[in-house]
Amino acid sequence: MQGPDKGEAGKKGMRLTDKIVSLIQKLYSLPDQVSEDRYVKLRRNMAVLMFLVTAVPLSVMLIINHHQYQSALRSEAVTQFRVLENKAKHSFELFLQERLSTVKYIANAYSIEQLAQDGELKNIFYTIQQNFSGFVDLGLINPDGIQVNYVGPYDLEGKDYSGTSSYQEVRIKGTYISDVFLGYRRFPHLIVAVERRDPSGKNWVVRASIDIDTFNDIIASMGLEADSDAFLLNRQGIIQTPSKFYGQVLDECPIELPPKTFQPTVIEMTDPEGRDIFLSYVYFSKQEFVLFLVKERSLLLRSWYALKGQMLVVFSLSMVLIAFIIFRLTGLMVRRIKQADERREAAYRELEHNQKLSSIGQMAAGVAHEINNPLAIINEKAGLMQDLLKGAEDFARKDKFLGLVQSIIKSVDRARGITYRLLGFARRLETHYEVLEVNNVLREVLGFLEKEAEERNVSIHLEFSEDLPKIHSDQGQLEQVFLNLMSNALAAVQDHQGQIQIRTWQINEQTVCVSIDDNGCGMDNETLRHIFEPFFTTKKGYGTGLGLSITYGIIKKLGGDIKVASEKNVGTTFTIYLPVKEGTEKGTA
Ligand code: ADP
Repeated sequence: MQGPDKGEAGKKGMRLTDKIVSLIQKLYSLPDQVSEDRYVKLRRNMAVLMFLVTAVPLSVMLIINHHQYQSALRSEAVTQFRVLENKAKHSFELFLQERLSTVKYIANAYSIEQLAQDGELKNIFYTIQQNFSGFVDLGLINPDGIQVNYVGPYDLEGKDYSGTSSYQEVRIKGTYISDVFLGYRRFPHLIVAVERRDPSGKNWVVRASIDIDTFNDIIASMGLEADSDAFLLNRQGIIQTPSKFYGQVLDECPIELPPKTFQPTVIEMTDPEGRDIFLSYVYFSKQEFVLFLVKERSLLLRSWYALKGQMLVVFSLSMVLIAFIIFRLTGLMVRRIKQADERREAAYRELEHNQKLSSIGQMAAGVAHEINNPLAIINEKAGLMQDLLKGAEDFARKDKFLGLVQSIIKSVDRARGITYRLLGFARRLETHYEVLEVNNVLREVLGFLEKEAEERNVSIHLEFSEDLPKIHSDQGQLEQVFLNLMSNALAAVQDHQGQIQIRTWQINEQTVCVSIDDNGCGMDNETLRHIFEPFFTTKKGYGTGLGLSITYGIIKKLGGDIKVASEKNVGTTFTIYLPVKEGTEKGTA
């Protein structure tokens, strides 16, 4: 069973996840309307998501690799350091052990009497000097601690060592290797002494000084880089061989001695001079020395820093490249989405428009049909009345009557014209296809309007393509279309400065185009949205609002298309696309 605490924690968890989800939803929500803002947000969301999906795994990989490389390179460097130190330690130990064994051999192979002879000791000394490097002098100390014989550069014969700690130590331990010290000639050396224990009870000591130049040779043979330091210390922390960083022989080393260990050990530390260093150290097991190997951390990890720099450059370049690609890709995708949305919207609007046209068309056709019959009767009766009046004798106000009857007949004509147009709009008119030249149709229609254009001083400029192919279409209906568009253009332009341009051209093998361009009043967006709707007109009082809807219906029926571009107070261009071959109706309900 779940305890109350667990239940509370679970609820809190749920609340947190809900909050995160709602935050993401908020961030990723898009405005419902198809607006610029929607696409900007969509692009931003896509870009952020794509960037996260690519950048996060790359960054995680970089961090993991960073740690792995760092630890691998560090352990490689540290291992090299340890191996080097181990080798150097063995060389030192070997050197000292060899010198000790040599002195041991002299003490054990010769009697005190032999060693006490001047010539004999000299012989032995020269022999060992030839075979082993580093020996500076050789002396024999008798059981009373007095150096009774001595071969070497100093005058040490007769010197009493009985009170010295080195003599005491050799008497206790049997062998002795001193720390480094500066002798009379002020050059650093150390002492190796061995006690010979004679069965007669007389014990004597053979003592030799060793020059530590060989130590420097061993350090040099380690092949350290110029920026590394290696030196020996005694167990009191006194420097025994010159150090590059921490002083000369017999100076106190500023680094405190680390805990004793006979295996090379590497520690990272900051030295008293503030350098970040790797210190590898090892205690000698048989002698009282400690070997220090020092290298600045930055130098030891130089290759790591170089690699790290390269990794960062590659990472940054990849990020820039990814960001660039995402930027371009999201731009392209959002553009495509926007185009698809616009196409869908246009298709939807056209469908809606066509449905509207279709239903209004049906209604209009019905009304026109119904009105046509009474109109025919009125026309007939009015004609009869006119004939009767004409044949009758003169009577008062006969002319007035005749005038009234004529105006009835005129109005009926006008009403018939409207019903005829209504029927045309409703596509009751049959389409008669024939082969025709669009340029000729346009010229014929122009013939109707030329007079008006001339009177109003409106210039009509023609730019007809001469090699326009003949098309299969309905001459009468095309005439109606051109007449509507040209009449509108004429109505839109001002007297004296109006200009209308009519162009024809072929855009591909299947389509020819006609454009009618005017510099008239133009239309605002609101008007543009409604112009193809039946009964929409801005010409209050004299416009029927049927011209463009009929035009639209005819063009669609003939398998073509019509486009309009207009700017308020600048002008309007209607472009008609007509199929060369007999067209089939497109996109109409
Ligand atoms: P009507 O001409 O009877 O008003 P139409 O369907 O031919 O009906 O035109 C509808 C409306 O479109 C017009 O009232 C007018 O506002 C606008 N219009 C059409 N052609 C042009 C044009 N060339 N310049 C400016 N407005 C135009």
